[in-house]
Amino acid sequence: MPTEDKFHAPYVGRFAPSPTGPLHFGSLTTALGSRLRAARQNGLWLVRIDDLDPPRTVSGAAQAQLDTLSAFGLVSQGPVVYQSQRRAQHERIIHGLRRAGLAYPCGCTNRTLGGLKRYPGTCRNGLPAGKTERSIRLKTYPQSIEFNDILQGPQTQSPHAEVGDFVIRRGDGLIAYQLAVVADDRAQGVTEVVRGHDLMSSVGRQWLVYNALKTTPPAYLHLPVVVDANGRKLSKSDGADPLERHSPNECFRLALRALGHEPPSGCISLSAQWDWALKHWSLERVPPGPVSL
Ligand code: GLU
Repeated sequence: MPTEDKFHAPYVGRFAPSPTGPLHFGSLTTALGSRLRAARQNGLWLVRIDDLDPPRTVSGAAQAQLDTLSAFGLVSQGPVVYQSQRRAQHERIIHGLRRAGLAYPCGCTNRTLGGLKRYPGTCRNGLPAGKTERSIRLKTYPQSIEFNDILQGPQTQSPHAEVGDFVIRRGDGLIAYQLAVVADDRAQGVTEVVRGHDLMSSVGRQWLVYNALKTTPPAYLHLPVVVDANGRKLSKSDGADPLERHSPNECFRLALRALGHEPPSGCISLSAQWDWALKHWSLERVPPGPVSL
């Protein structure tokens, strides 16, 4: 029998907020959906703080987000990992990819690329004369990535055609999200990525990072995004966030509702709603989205 600390649950899920401000209702809904999914799979649920980008990181926001999650009963079942503390591992991976010829230095800037959506491969075969290394890009090849999103169904993405070779270390020296998310999900043994539908378009690039690292990608499940009455993703700035206007019990009910679950009206306290949700959670009830409140 494996000892307690070596034991890996067959299912490992996670919620990975970026600490760019207080937790908002959309994130609460995603956190709850991923937590309930992990519980239904008898798995482990981890929280990771994606604080990769110091200019966007708001001081105190990570702890405030963890406190808000915990006030709703959402507590990581393992140590909370901070991406900012994994820089050495990220660099080691980038170094390995470069040595293997799978990634290369690029001297282009957004300005010299003229806002092109797809990178044309300018530096792929070596830095052209006069250019100095700025970012690092992963090589892409013409291929379609086909995967079955557990909620959204079959998907096809072609990063080579859509974005071309993409940045894994940015020109400002920061590690790019696409690299860090794979490095950290892999290190944490995440078997299924449950997150908001707005990140669906990243799967193809992340898949290619897994391929380059000779690791099988996790399963993907993209939950509905919560939108306002005008169909826009809820944001803090418009003052429409339920977390600012309603009690925790009501917010929890609204989050469950956004996930297609409606506890009976007598089920009011957080603990009663949790009990109900753990018992009744079913992916079949979750709408692919987007959902409005
Ligand atoms: N940190 C990302 C965000 O807050 C989520 C990353 C992920 O779930 O892959 O949008």
